[in-house]
Amino acid sequence: MTVPVFRFAPSSNGALHLGHAYSAMLNYRLARKADGRFLLRIEDIDTSRCSPEREQAIYRDLEWLGIEWELPVRRQSDHFEDYRAALDRLEDANLIYPSFMTRGDLRAFIAEAEAEGTLWPRDPDGAPLFPSLDRERSPSERKRLIANGAPFAWRLDIENACAALGHGIDWDEEGAGPQGQTGLIPADPRAWGDVVIARKETPTSYHLAVTVDDAVQGITHVVRGRDLFFATAVHRLIQELMGLPVPRYHHHALIRDLDGRKLSKSQGDTGIAALRQAGATPADIARMVGLDEVT
Ligand code: GLU
Repeated sequence: MTVPVFRFAPSSNGALHLGHAYSAMLNYRLARKADGRFLLRIEDIDTSRCSPEREQAIYRDLEWLGIEWELPVRRQSDHFEDYRAALDRLEDANLIYPSFMTRGDLRAFIAEAEAEGTLWPRDPDGAPLFPSLDRERSPSERKRLIANGAPFAWRLDIENACAALGHGIDWDEEGAGPQGQTGLIPADPRAWGDVVIARKETPTSYHLAVTVDDAVQGITHVVRGRDLFFATAVHRLIQELMGLPVPRYHHHALIRDLDGRKLSKSQGDTGIAALRQAGATPADIARMVGLDEVT
């Protein structure tokens, strides 16, 4: 029998809050219950917002919570070559293209399209789908723009990618989606349009790095917040395109603040370090997020 492998994968762009504590503790408890392994991964591809100090603060908070993880920790910024190799494969298969539209261009384009009265389609997070303009550029035009130093991002050609696959995909959901979806979930990557798969200076995006890393680390159980439920469709598509193993997924409830809002990194009063300094114990944190004390 294969040993179950769980992971907690925070981004080191801010401090851990109660939502992270819940995710980390839940993963850790599930791993122990299953006699499995528990790994930690630092998602720091955005090197402008992530820092070694923030990474150290994450270790301190997790240690204080009583969580133990295997060493070495996988730090994404140490593995850009892995993501570049994956990106090269997608490029060789003609499944990605450089997009040159800036945020401003995109806003203006959507506003103009919507001024004519039709609502532009949105992805599951509510962002407008990327228009086809850049996808339709000729190879010579792309070359010229890149040679001129135009900034660009690599996007997945979602229609081509789904066509290359030629069959539907799904995943095994052991938690639940926002509408209580559970069991075998049909994946709908088209709902996201042409997602960003890498940036000009960074050979990856969240979607690519998370998928490559879950495979490299042999993760069998992805336990994470329900806000990533629909994004799983993109991860499943990348797994299929690259022949990667498929973990089980468990999307858990999100911890909300008293007003029902999602917690953010800037909300000091729900930060683990702030709660610790205010005298809370790890058992208090477990109770606050609805986990009982005993693992
Ligand atoms: N790094 C992501 C976050 O902090 C989580 C990624 C994942 O668990 O798949 O939201």
